[in-house]
Amino acid sequence: MARLEDALGDDLLLVTQNIDDLHERGGSRTVIHMHGRIGIALCRSCGRPSAAPATLLDRPPCPHCAGRTLRPDVVWFGELPYDLDLIGRALAECDLFVAVGTSGAVYPAAGFVASALEAGARTLELNLTVSEVSSVFDEVRMGRASELVPAWVDELLAELRRTA
Ligand SMILES: [Zn+2]
Repeated sequence: MARLEDALGDDLLLVTQNIDDLHERGGSRTVIHMHGRIGIALCRSCGRPSAAPATLLDRPPCPHCAGRTLRPDVVWFGELPYDLDLIGRALAECDLFVAVGTSGAVYPAAGFVASALEAGARTLELNLTVSEVSSVFDEVRMGRASELVPAWVDELLAELRRTA
């Protein structure tokens, strides 16, 4: 995904449901964490983020307001995911939508493919098993992300070079 970002720049929007830093460790610079980040603490009093300590169980103080009101900056069930406006705008104008490793069962993310199709995008699912939304994708490839994603990126970069 980092190689793709190098080639596409702002034409790539990488949205993840991962709350860890997998993509950043892979070299991606701009990552939309729609379900938040476990490495960040969010203060319920002042609303500001800070680097999360190893545990919040002993109720450490917020570095900004000293309130002992920190929670993980992670979107729990029933809470609204982050950046849905930004994601919605990108879906409305995307020409290729690719979903990697998803159950397709958790909304709103499970509905992204429908929005992309509505926008006229080509859609591709890379997944270990059939998901609840596999049937609506133009193309589905089954296998491990560690193999499917690099192969797909190679293919797309070659296609971009041909049409450049
Ligand atoms: Zn605070």
